Amino acid sequence: MTISWHNDDFSVRLAVMGARRYEKVSYPLYYGEYGVVETADCLLHFNRENEIIRAKGKGADWPHRNEWLKRTLGDDWLYYSTGGYTGVFEALGEFYLPNLPYPTNNLLGGHPLRDQSVRRLIDVWPDVLAECQAAACDAPEEIKEFLQLCLTNKPEKLAAKAQAVFANYGGRPSVLPPDARHVDYQLIPIGISSGCLYKCRFCEVKNRMSFQAATEAGIARRIERLKTLLGADAANYNAVFLGDHDALAAGGGLVIETLARAWRGFHLADAIMLGASAFLFASVASLAATSDDFFAELARLPYDTYINIGLESADQETLDSLGKPISVREVEETFARMQSLNDRWPKLELTANFVFDDDLPDGHYPAFLRLTRDSLPRRKVKGSVYLSPLKFDQPSRLKTFDFHRLKVASRLPTFLYLIQRL
Ligand code: SF4
Repeated sequence: MTISWHNDDFSVRLAVMGARRYEKVSYPLYYGEYGVVETADCLLHFNRENEIIRAKGKGADWPHRNEWLKRTLGDDWLYYSTGGYTGVFEALGEFYLPNLPYPTNNLLGGHPLRDQSVRRLIDVWPDVLAECQAAACDAPEEIKEFLQLCLTNKPEKLAAKAQAVFANYGGRPSVLPPDARHVDYQLIPIGISSGCLYKCRFCEVKNRMSFQAATEAGIARRIERLKTLLGADAANYNAVFLGDHDALAAGGGLVIETLARAWRGFHLADAIMLGASAFLFASVASLAATSDDFFAELARLPYDTYINIGLESADQETLDSLGKPISVREVEETFARMQSLNDRWPKLELTANFVFDDDLPDGHYPAFLRLTRDSLPRRKVKGSVYLSPLKFDQPSRLKTFDFHRLKVASRLPTFLYLIQRL
């Protein structure tokens, strides 16, 4: 039940229940259970561990009344912008564009994180909170306690917690699957492997580690530690990310075992957010090594599962120029199997990434259309294809025009891949 209190200068609301399902809507929708502190100038949201998770300015200088800041589990402040509502949904499949505070391959949007009022709110929210706490002498005990607890979660403590989450995972996840947009990237990160199989030359997110699967005992320890780190706010999560760059290569058995353990460990059946999703990356090789039995077993688990595979190109010259050590034949076979699996398993979606750049060999885009248009008898609603710009921090109107041409021609849902880290 929501508890409220206010004086002339600010108000506090505890246990506010936001939306319990992720939805794609063109107005601000806040998820899960949270607490609110509202002054004349700003709105601050806190999770069930009394850590700030959202902030929004109310002054005339705030860029847009329907835009807000979100603080991630990795302690990044993102700015959710409408992008003027023009083209963001078509490009990303979402109504809001998360503007990220680090270099990425985004083609859209401006630089709202450089806006003075946005920067100021990121800096001053602890002071705003401290003023509210000092002025809340007449408030009921639970309101005073809430403000006091929020105040103990200072920026340094939040940063240290993010580091603890990364250490528990096995390093900071440098990229999340594009499908994580379906849960607003609100994921429980469980590292079940490290490294990847290919070490492609073009890739900006790879690490130096050779591929290694974690042990079952190690994963169990990671889940236990993460339960402690997330604390009461674990109830606001209903999605699991199995890392790292090729979790399926760790073996279908380990994937199933980890998902089952996470379901029990995080009490996902009782989560505030309804439904449950699992996200992971796979590769051409790891999918080829995975039998259909795995997918039958996966279908018995209570998750909607999204598996994302970097195919990159169906043109050999492009694959070679990217330093991706796979053949066109493998790409075509993988793509065909992905379609077949998507057709057979309703709660499973395999999605693919292809590179997107001005300077690729001439054969790349015709080969892309051979797969995504010519090889399919009709349009499909499942099996998204993500075009991933190769260059970081180089927005280009011309490229978004090319993207729209490919999107219209493709018979699969086609979007841009915005690389986002945890
Ligand atoms: S594209 Fe994937 S497989 Fe290739 S180096 Fe990057 S993470 Fe590894």
